[in-house]
Parts: sequence; structure tokens; C-alpha cells
Amino acid sequence: MSATLQVERVTVGLLEENCWIVADPAARACILVDPGDEADRILAEMDKTGCKLEAIWLTHAHFDHVGGIGGVRREHDVPIYLHPADATLYSVADRSAERWGLEIEQPPDFDKTMAAGDLMSVGSLRFTVLHVPGHAPGHVALLGHGLVFGGDCLFAGSIGRTDIPFASSMDLMKSLEQFAALPPETVVHAGHGPSTTIARELATNPFLTGVARPRSS
Ligand SMILES: [Zn+2]
Ligand SMILES: [Zn+2]
Repeated sequence: MSATLQVERVTVGLLEENCWIVADPAARACILVDPGDEADRILAEMDKTGCKLEAIWLTHAHFDHVGGIGGVRREHDVPIYLHPADATLYSVADRSAERWGLEIEQPPDFDKTMAAGDLMSVGSLRFTVLHVPGHAPGHVALLGHGLVFGGDCLFAGSIGRTDIPFASSMDLMKSLEQFAALPPETVVHAGHGPSTTIARELATNPFLTGVARPRSS
């Protein structure tokens, strides 16, 4: 059976976080990347794919990326994957939201860890884990099938904040080099805002063209 790939975006919450439904329709299997809020809306979109949820993959543990996990898990008993370097952020997600004057449901404990080089599967799809710390210490990106789920590292025209707890601008600059080394046609599905490509960002993103440097923490 050859791999089929379907990617759906559901933008959720006050911070307009992008949750991604990644499905292999031929295998009737899907995963969620970063169910950040509004679990009901995410699950309704997921049901339209006709695919069965197999796992939740987290690019990082900021509250705007994890607030929908509880609602998803009440309907689907699937494992939650996180890089262990983000365990502390994950454990205080609801309190972090409070500092922004927002309220999220503290997610249930994560079940499995991801590390650089791990191969993640859904149906016959395969994604490689890149460890890209800086915006968060346990930040990962998921690379495969000509696209990368980049979370809050690289945005169209911008990069992730580093003026927040546990962030490191030096680490982020090194991680951006990993993105810059990807094939230029690679599509970047970001944690906020529109999708882009590595080629477009190399040509136009001031943080990648060397014009600017990330705000230091
Ligand atoms: Zn973030
Ligand atoms: Zn975010």
C-alpha cells in the first residue's frame, strides 16, 4: 500500500495556534500535532477525514499548544509524545496560561518521549524528529514527505520568541541553521500564521538572511 498524505489545519484559541491533523487516508490512520485548544472543533475536523486517531505529537509544551489535549484524550485513549526537555514546561502549562490571563485545562501526563533522529509513524507515513531548542528547550520539528511541522521556531517572516522562561536565543539561532539546511522546497507548517517554504524564508526572513538577530532573553 503506497502512502497517502492528508494535512488539515485547525487554528484554535485566543493565540490562534495551528493544530495539524496528519492523516494517511489509505491506512485510515491519523495523528494530531499540537491540539492547543478547542478540542471539540479539532475532533469534528478529524472525524471528516474518516481516520482513526493513533497519537498526539507535541512540538513543544507551551500552553497554547497543549490546552486541547484533555478534551481529545477523553474521546480517544492515545499516547502523548513530548521531548523530555519540555517536561517542566508541560507540568506548569495551566499556570503559565494564568500569567497571560488565560485559562486552559492542564493536560494529562505525557506517555512517550521523542528525541532527535526518532522515526515517528502514522499509517505508512514516516516523520523524522529534529530537536530544535531555543524557543523552548524540548522543542522538536517533525520532518517528512516534503514538509516540516516546525512549531514556534520558524514563522513566515519571523521566528519564535526567546524573551520567555526557559528560552535561549543562542540555541534558537543554531536550530534555525537546521531549518536553513533543509531542501529549499520543504513546506513549513508553523505553529502560528501561514505556511511557507524554506526557500521563501531564506530569501525574505530577516532572521535567516542575517539582517536581524532574535530578541535576547
Ligand atoms: Zn511556543
Ligand atoms: Zn505557540
